[in-house]
Amino acid sequence: MSLNGQYDDDNIFAKIIRGEMPCVKVYEDEHTLAFMDVFPQSEGHTLVIPKNEKARNLLEVGPKALGRLIGTVQRISRAVNTALSPDGIVVTQFNGAPAGQTVFHLHMHIIPRYEGTTLGGHASGEMADMDKLNVLAEKIKTAL
Ligand code: AMP
Repeated sequence: MSLNGQYDDDNIFAKIIRGEMPCVKVYEDEHTLAFMDVFPQSEGHTLVIPKNEKARNLLEVGPKALGRLIGTVQRISRAVNTALSPDGIVVTQFNGAPAGQTVFHLHMHIIPRYEGTTLGGHASGEMADMDKLNVLAEKIKTAL
């Protein structure tokens, strides 16, 4: 059911879009929003979401909105590269709980990789220090 189901208006990213939940924002335009992942798998882990789509996953979004989403993913990835100088950048996206999805509003992960640093667990572990996330977000914003 988690791959094929009803969009829940009360999912956490929908609340962030409506301003009912805080986020450490990196970038926003008319169609997309980028913010820091609060359970980062590496330093600079950023999420990008569409703002106007009730899409739970990749299968439910229209091509125009998807194009805008991936455009923002590229923009943020470039800024992450400039700001944090990682050795690699992983872009991922999960569809359905068995695939690893935990929040059912379409999103893409931008995960910088640093040589010699092990990747943290997905959507697990301790919540990040908000001051550190704010510093990282400011660095990425400056590079946009
Ligand atoms: P997924 O498991 O692909 O659905 O990814 C959901 C991501 O959202 C995980 O990496 C979580 O760490 C992250 N996450 C969950 N709640 C929040 C939140 N309130 N703010 C930012 N990131 C979140």
